[in-house]
Amino acid sequence: MSVAGINVLVEETRAIQAGAKPPLLAVRDVSTYYGSVAALRGVDIDVADGEIVTLIGANGAGKSTLMMTIFGSPQARTGTITYDGRDITRLPTHAIARLGIAQSPEGRRVFPRMSVFENLQMGASLHGERHFQEDLEKVCTLFPRVKERLHQRAGTMSGGEQQMLAIARALMSRPRLLLLDEPSLGLAPLVVKGIFDAIKELNRTDGMTIFLVEQNAYHALKLAHRGYVLVNGRVTMSGTGRALLDDPNVKAAYLEGGHTGPVGA
Ligand code: ATP
Repeated sequence: MSVAGINVLVEETRAIQAGAKPPLLAVRDVSTYYGSVAALRGVDIDVADGEIVTLIGANGAGKSTLMMTIFGSPQARTGTITYDGRDITRLPTHAIARLGIAQSPEGRRVFPRMSVFENLQMGASLHGERHFQEDLEKVCTLFPRVKERLHQRAGTMSGGEQQMLAIARALMSRPRLLLLDEPSLGLAPLVVKGIFDAIKELNRTDGMTIFLVEQNAYHALKLAHRGYVLVNGRVTMSGTGRALLDDPNVKAAYLEGGHTGPVGA
């Protein structure tokens, strides 16, 4: 088959995966640098409306950099990022947030001196008071632990509780696309399960589109419709979550012998 024929096939596959609609988020040939060092080298990723897509990879592969680049800081040096048909590559973070993208960054960056309630108010600031009560009830149902701690200072919560709060705060902005950076990092298996169940629920009941960066490849691939593998700033593999879970290379590199495997999951 000719190169042109292969390209048509690739585009057709993409269209089918995305329900014959253009993807909600399209990352095309994106490279991001820290000074003269490339952290991303020509990355292509699609996230269709209503999908959970995961990005897995080892420490330093560039996963967080891709998530932050989508959210505008740092910005891509080359390539384009399109969201809902609009080029967002050069937009500042606050403008990207206004378009309906929210990020829960790695390391549970909550405001430690503020109460849990005040953290949630900060998350809701895009919409003012309009949906606050309704959204508060919703995140409290999703994370009952957050509800129990509304008046506690966020910095005194446990790691798992802060992670739930970081996600809850992102949800308060009513995102259409939620970017989650390593929500399972450093958490006990039961807490991880609670967080992954919540992600699944958000997708199933609200149709929320989710882009999930994870080192916990087993849980992430089990949950996601599709996944990408990032190695040294390049996408080396992609496929359905199931196909990647069954792939011998993925198994050897990310699933066997580590905390990421099914043991005890
Ligand atoms: P991890 O799973 O350990 O969080 P990651 O896949 O998210 O890793 P990144 O944090 O995106 O990887 O880092 C990709 C590369 O970019 C690494 O080599 C890292 O050292 C480098 N890097 C990240 N942030 C900066 C920065 N602010 N300045 C310079 N280099 C950076």
